[in-house]
Amino acid sequence: MLKVEGLNAGYGAVNILWDISIQVADGQVTAILGSNGAGKTTMVRAITGMLKPSSGSVLFNGSELAKKSSRYILDQGIVQVPEGRQLFTEMTVLENLEMGAFSKQTKAHFQENLKRAYQWFPKLEERAKQAAGTLSGGEQQMVAVARALIGMPKLLILDEPSLGLAPNIVDDILNVASTMAREEGISVLLVEQDITKALACADRGYVIENGRIALEGAASELEANEHVKKAYLGI
Ligand code: ATP
Repeated sequence: MLKVEGLNAGYGAVNILWDISIQVADGQVTAILGSNGAGKTTMVRAITGMLKPSSGSVLFNGSELAKKSSRYILDQGIVQVPEGRQLFTEMTVLENLEMGAFSKQTKAHFQENLKRAYQWFPKLEERAKQAAGTLSGGEQQMVAVARALIGMPKLLILDEPSLGLAPNIVDDILNVASTMAREEGISVLLVEQDITKALACADRGYVIENGRIALEGAASELEANEHVKKAYLGI
């Protein structure tokens, strides 16, 4: 389980995240919600070690990760699907999936994890030899999620998976995320601007505004919250 406490982080002299505290429980989908520029991606960077927090704690199953390298954090089982997917577009689907096996352990289990990834996303097996850049946006997002699964995550972070995708494809991707959480006990941290879709799939959520946690609660509570309805759901 991930427990972030009192996290402050930013870029140079500019602080972006203010005293962020969140928890992600095992086998649950936890949503981080907020509009453009709220600080969601900055929070993901601070958790995954790509940005060093100025203060605060990032505990994962009891170990402190706040000052560790991104490689160390990856080795603990925190794997992210980055915003914009960041595939190697000239390489085939299979080659991209091979890039997800970064450690000795994930290399040793590559074939079985590949089989599982293809079970989640059968289309990728049909497209294994195709250059990733020639896939549709939805298929590319599937490759990005499958590549993360090859990394055998204990905590899977999805950063804005809905970006630029048709609503039904977003539903497919989020369904896979929530099924993985419930059936495989993987914790999922879902970062989303599409608050309706995120709350439909999440167990709990946090709303970030201007780098601070503005609201938190069960997904059903947030859906019913007057501020969320007015500011984000347009109802
Ligand atoms: P989006 O949904 O648009 O991706 P976000 O909630 O993920 O937004 P962030 O990308 O975390 O927001 O950005 C939060 C703030 O930090 C913004 O004001 C942004 O301009 C600033 N910021 C992001 N990256 C950098 C950087 N590398 N250097 C300086 N400022 C940055």
